Amino acid sequence: MAEGTPSILIRGGRVYDHDGDTDLPPVADVLIEGDRIARIGAGIGPADRTIDAAGKLVMPGFVNAHYHSHDVLLKGCFETLPLELWLLHALPPAYPRRSAAEVRARTLLGAAECLRSGMTTIQDMLTLFPFDPEHLATVVAAYEEIGIRCTFSLQVGDIPGIERVPFWKEVVPEEYHRHLGASVEPGGFDPLTHVRDRYLDYRATSPRFRWALGPTSPEFCTPRLLEGLAALSAEYGLPVITHIYESRSMAVAGRLFMPEHDGSQVKYLRSTGLLGANVGLAHSVWMRPDEIEILAETGTNVILNPVGNLKTRSGVPPIRGYLDAGVPTAIGCDNSPAAMRRTCSTR
Ligand SMILES: [Zn+2]
Repeated sequence: MAEGTPSILIRGGRVYDHDGDTDLPPVADVLIEGDRIARIGAGIGPADRTIDAAGKLVMPGFVNAHYHSHDVLLKGCFETLPLELWLLHALPPAYPRRSAAEVRARTLLGAAECLRSGMTTIQDMLTLFPFDPEHLATVVAAYEEIGIRCTFSLQVGDIPGIERVPFWKEVVPEEYHRHLGASVEPGGFDPLTHVRDRYLDYRATSPRFRWALGPTSPEFCTPRLLEGLAALSAEYGLPVITHIYESRSMAVAGRLFMPEHDGSQVKYLRSTGLLGANVGLAHSVWMRPDEIEILAETGTNVILNPVGNLKTRSGVPPIRGYLDAGVPTAIGCDNSPAAMRRTCSTR
């Protein structure tokens, strides 16, 4: 161990090993030096600090693979609603204007709730609307302050909701269309330039803070935007997280708006270069068998959000299909109120 490297000993807990006895893991000590596990065994020590883990399970921190911190403060504001009805209330123009203090509070609260639930890494797909550089700086500083690992993306899209949520145009009176006309984010400037510049601003923030790219959903993104994000991802090695097929309506959007891609949002993504091991598809509830095959072939990841899907009554994803096909799967809470306290639905 290097001179001065702090060490922590976690003593006497049952240490989980996925390849070992998962029913009754053996009792052992874990020695951490710096940010690495140095040894696991019996009778290790001493260390700078000892944590008594007797009677407890010692295991890796969970990864919350899909989450949005922007509506942490909306807990309790919505009853159970189908996704598309919720969107009527929750497109960014309807967002309450927040102060920097509120942005800091919601970021810390959501992260603290994750930590208390055993999560040590989160993926925050954040919408800042209207974009305020002070708010972004506040979020980045809050994650640094609380110390959770964060893979962070700014959510972007460039096709208005009224154009791509099936039947909104027909059902919503025309006088209200302008209220549903905004893109998800950012509005007023080019989303590609925006995310590239913000990444360059904060790329060296901290080893715990990692950037990703966050096209909101394929149906809300032009080929130009998705191809540009694919190029950015390749240039800087950035992961990409997007929503897909959360609701039946999102599957209908594929059928209606992507006939040249066989009505498939997956094939649309493939055409823009946005499938592969660096891409995570949140929800993936209404995936077709032929699309599951494409995900398996390309090594694309699926991020399941079961509690949020129940809250929005979106359905149950074909988990067995993903596992049988060898599609890598992760789990996210989506919105923290939906999954951790079950009081609010969002995406
Ligand atoms: Zn989401």
